[in-house]
Amino acid sequence: MRLVILGPPGSGKGTRANITGRITGHPVITTGAMLREAVAAGTEYGKIADGYMKKGELVRDDVVIGIVEERLRKPDVRAGFILDGFPRSVNQARALDRILNKVGDVLDLVLYVTAKPETILSRLSLRRSCPKCGAIYHLKDMPPKVEGVCDECGSPLTQRDDDREEIILHRLEVYEQQTFPILERYERLGKVREISGELEIDEIEAEVKRVLKGI
Ligand code: ADP
Repeated sequence: MRLVILGPPGSGKGTRANITGRITGHPVITTGAMLREAVAAGTEYGKIADGYMKKGELVRDDVVIGIVEERLRKPDVRAGFILDGFPRSVNQARALDRILNKVGDVLDLVLYVTAKPETILSRLSLRRSCPKCGAIYHLKDMPPKVEGVCDECGSPLTQRDDDREEIILHRLEVYEQQTFPILERYERLGKVREISGELEIDEIEAEVKRVLKGI
C-alpha cells in the first residue's frame, strides 16, 4: 500500500503516519525529520535546507525530491510506504508520479488530515520535542512527567525554531498557497480520504483502520 499523508502543519500528520505505519507494517518516510537530520549532520542538502526551514518556507523542490527519490530506491519500500510531509507542491506531486511510474507503481491513497485553526495554533505553539529521541509533547495536553525533561530518555526538551508564532503563521500561508492545491489533483483521481486531526490518541487507530478498509 502506497500512501501519502497530507494536511496543514500541526494537524497531526505525524501521529497518524506513525499509527498507519504500525498497522500496515510499511516504513514511514517523514521529510521534515529527514531534513532536520540533514541540517544537524551538516550535509550539503542540510546546509541548503536550513535557511528555508528557519523561515518556514518550503525547502527547494530539487533538494526534497532528491532526498525522497533516494529513500524510495531502498528495498524496504517495495511492498509499500507512508509518505508524511511529501509532496507539498505541485512540482513534488508530479515528481512522485514520475518516480513511481518508473517502477510501475501507483499511489493508492491520500489521507487528508483536517483540524480547526485553533487546534493547529495550540499544537504548534505548545509543542516541545526531544532533540535526542524525537519524542513529542504538548505543554497542556501531553506534558512530560517532569517539566522540561523527556520521559523517554531524560534529555532536556526544546522548541523547534519554526514553532515560534510568526513562523507558524507563515507556514500556514505556505500550506494554503503551495500545498493545498495538490489536493485537487488527487481528488480528481478519487484518491483522497479525509481523516480528523481532532481525535484523542486512543481513537486514532480505529479511524485509520476504518479508512484503510475502504480501499
Ligand atoms: P509541519 O508539517 O508541522 O510544517 P514538518 O516537520 O513536516 O512540519 O516540516 C518542517 C519544515 O521542513 C517545513 O516548514 C519545510 O521547511 C521543510 N519541509 C518538510 N517537508 C518538505 C517538503 N516536502 N518540501 C519542502 N519543504 C519541506
